[in-house]
Amino acid sequence: MKIAISIGHGRNASGGYDSGAVGGGYHEFKLAKEIGKYAGEALAVYDCDVDIINYNGEAYLTDRINYINKGGYDLALEIHLNANGGTGSEVYYKHGNTAGKKLAAAISKSIADNLGIKNRGAKIKLSGNVDYFGFVRSVKCQSLLVETVFIDTASDRNKVVTAAGQKKCGQAIASAIANYYGLKKLAASPSLVTSIGAGSTVKITGKCYATGQTIPVWVKARNHTVKSVNANGKVLLKEINSYVWADDLQLVKSAKKGIVVGSTVTIKSGSVYGGLSTARGKAIPKEQLAPKKHKVTKIQTNNGVREALLGDILSWVAVSSLTEV
Ligand SMILES: [Zn+2]
Repeated sequence: MKIAISIGHGRNASGGYDSGAVGGGYHEFKLAKEIGKYAGEALAVYDCDVDIINYNGEAYLTDRINYINKGGYDLALEIHLNANGGTGSEVYYKHGNTAGKKLAAAISKSIADNLGIKNRGAKIKLSGNVDYFGFVRSVKCQSLLVETVFIDTASDRNKVVTAAGQKKCGQAIASAIANYYGLKKLAASPSLVTSIGAGSTVKITGKCYATGQTIPVWVKARNHTVKSVNANGKVLLKEINSYVWADDLQLVKSAKKGIVVGSTVTIKSGSVYGGLSTARGKAIPKEQLAPKKHKVTKIQTNNGVREALLGDILSWVAVSSLTEV
C-alpha cells in the first residue's frame, strides 16, 4: 500500500511562508513536519511505501492535493496542530466514509493514549454539504486531517516540542495505521541482503550514502528500486540515482521474474490488441489501459510476437506492452 504523509502549512497561496497557528513561539508547520517525519520513519518498517510531502514547505495546499491525486496513493493524511484553545487530539475524515471514521478514531485514540491527553475522537466538519477541509474534500483516496494537539494550550504543546515527544506522536499515528491495515513488519534479516539485485525493491537502513553524506529521513522512509549492483558492494538506487552500500539496505521484494501466467499487469498507453482475430493492431481503449489491472491467464506466440491473454477482457496483448504490478 502507498501512503502519503503531508505536512500542513509551510507555504501560502502566493508562495510565501505559512507558519500555521503559533503558540508559545512555536510554529504549527515546524512541529507538524517533525511529527510527520517520525510517523514516516515508523511506517517505513512495515511493508508499505511512504512518501512525506511538503517536508520543506515546498508545496501549497492545492499542490499537495494534486500531487497526491496523481501519485496512486491508498491513504493520505495531513499533519496539523489544533488552535483556539482546547485540549486533545482529533482526526477529521470524509463525511459518510465509514472506513475513514474508523481509522480516524483509531489514530486519535492512539495519539491521546500515547501522549496522555484527551481523545476528542473522529470528527467531520462540513461547509454546506461538503467537507470543510480542502485536504479531506479534494484528495481522492482515503484522506484524513490529523489535529495532533493544541499548539496554543501549553500542556498539549509541551508534549510535542521535544524530539522525543514528536517521535512518540509520530509513532502513535503510524502504529494506528499499521494496526488498522494489518501491515506486516519487514523481516530485518541481514542475510537477505545477498539477494539484492537489479530490480529488487529495498529500504535503506543505514545512515549514509556511499559518498558519506547523510541520507534524509524522507528518503529512508520510502522503498527504492535497485538499478544495479557493482562488484564492491555499492548499489545504485533508481529513484534517487544515488549509491548506497549493500550492507545498508534491507530487501523488501526480490526482483520480478517477468510476466508469467498469474501475473497482474497494466497495459501501457498507446498499446494495440494482439491475437489472431480482426482486432489485431487496433488501439486498446483508454479505460483498459493503466492504471486498470488485468490478470494474465495464458502466454503464447502469435504471429511471431510473445503475447499474453488477459483473462478479464479475453484479449491478447504483446508482453512488451505490459507492465507487471
Ligand atoms: Zn493547521
